[in-house]
Amino acid sequence: MGEDNDASIKRMADLLRRGATMLAESCPQCGSPLMKVGNDIYCATCNRRIVYAKSDSTPAPIATTLPELRETLLEKLRTVNETLQRETDVEVLTKLSNLVVLLLRALRELNKV
Ligand SMILES: [Zn+2]
Repeated sequence: MGEDNDASIKRMADLLRRGATMLAESCPQCGSPLMKVGNDIYCATCNRRIVYAKSDSTPAPIATTLPELRETLLEKLRTVNETLQRETDVEVLTKLSNLVVLLLRALRELNKV
């Protein structure tokens, strides 16, 4: 894991040396900041190019990753549910309940897209 991290930081540094700029957007796969190299958007952590829809200049990779995002949210809900079952600390339970509400809200928003 540490090696992967080092490698991605090294790639990021290489990209910056080549004149890349760091974007405000983050990678839809891993959440790392995206780099812009020329006309290409690149994720140093995934070590791949992020392809945006050509017809639109605004970033649009979300359309292809919505099912994955949905799956991630469901997976988190499952994990939180398991933790909730074991947890007895009221403070933690409150936090987890809030998290469940947030996750459910995110899922509902996703279903609207
Ligand atoms: Zn990535």
